[in-house]
Amino acid sequence: MPQNQHSIDMDKIREVAGRLNAFSRILVLTGAGISQESGVPTFRGKDGLWKSQRAEDLATPEAFAKDPVLVWKWYDWRRSLIKPLQPNRAHYALVDLEERIEVFSLVTQNVDGLHRAAGSKNLIEMHGTLWRVRCTLCGKTSDNREVPITIPPMCEACGGMLRPDVVWFGEALDYEGLTRIYQLLENTEMMLVVGTSGVVQPAASFGLAAKRSGAFVVEVNRSKTPQSPFFDVSLDGKAGEILPRLVSAITYYA
Ligand code: NAD
Ligand code: ZN
Repeated sequence: MPQNQHSIDMDKIREVAGRLNAFSRILVLTGAGISQESGVPTFRGKDGLWKSQRAEDLATPEAFAKDPVLVWKWYDWRRSLIKPLQPNRAHYALVDLEERIEVFSLVTQNVDGLHRAAGSKNLIEMHGTLWRVRCTLCGKTSDNREVPITIPPMCEACGGMLRPDVVWFGEALDYEGLTRIYQLLENTEMMLVVGTSGVVQPAASFGLAAKRSGAFVVEVNRSKTPQSPFFDVSLDGKAGEILPRLVSAITYYA
C-alpha cells in the first residue's frame, strides 16, 4: 500500500533514535511549531494576525515608541490567549529526553513559557518570555502573569513604563545567551531543529552552524523549510506525534 504523506516514517525515527543513543551531547532548537498543538498561533499562519496587523509591525521598538498602548494591547491579547494553554506531548517528550541524555540543552525561540511549564531544565529562552516585564527606564525585570494587565503598566521602583521582556524584530539578542548558544552549536554532537520555519535570524542559521561543526542535524517539521535540503534527516510530521515516538524508540533500542 502506498504510504500517504501523513504517515510517520518509523525507519527514519529508529535511525535518529540510534544516533541519540550513540551521542552524549544533544542540542534542541524549537520554534512556534512545537506549541501549535497546544493551541498557540504561529506567526506565519492565518491566525498570526491581530486586527489585521502583522506581528512584524507590532513586535518592534519603533512600534512601541510610537504607540506603546497599541503594542501592549496586542501583548495583552496574546497573553490572554496563551495563559490557559498547556504544554503538549512534544514539550513533555523533550523533558523525557533531557532525563536520558548526558549533556542536553534546549534553546527556544518561543516566548509562551510552555517548555518551562512542562519542566525542561537546561533551557535558554533566547527571545525572552511573555511572562516577564522589564522597565524601560531602570531595566529592572519581574515576573508578571496578570491578564488583563493595566495598560500601560508602570515600574513600581522608578515609575518608568514597563515593556514585555522579549526580543523584538531589529533588537539585539542578549550577549551572554548568544555566546552560550554558539558554544553549544560548536560542541554539540547532534541537534534537533523542531517546528521552526528557518526564516527568523539568527536562529535560522543555528542548524547550519551545528552542521558545519560536524553535528548530525535532524529537522522535525510538518512542512519543508528553506534549510531542509541541508540537514541529515527530515522527520515530516507534527512534533507532538514525532517526538514521543522518538523518545520511545530510544528507550526500546537502548
Ligand atoms: P514560524 O511561525 O515562522 O514557523 C513555524 C514552523 O513550525 C513552520 O515551519 C511550520 O511548518 C512548523 N509547524 C507548525 N505546526 C507544527 C507542528 N505541529 N509540528 C511541527 N512543526 C510545525 O515560527 P518560528 O520559526 O518560531 O519563528 C517565528 C518567531 O516568532 C520566533 O522568533 C518566535 O519567537 C516568535 N513566535 C513565538 C511563538 C510562541 O512563543 N509560541 C508563536 C509565534 C511566534
Ligand atoms: Zn524602573
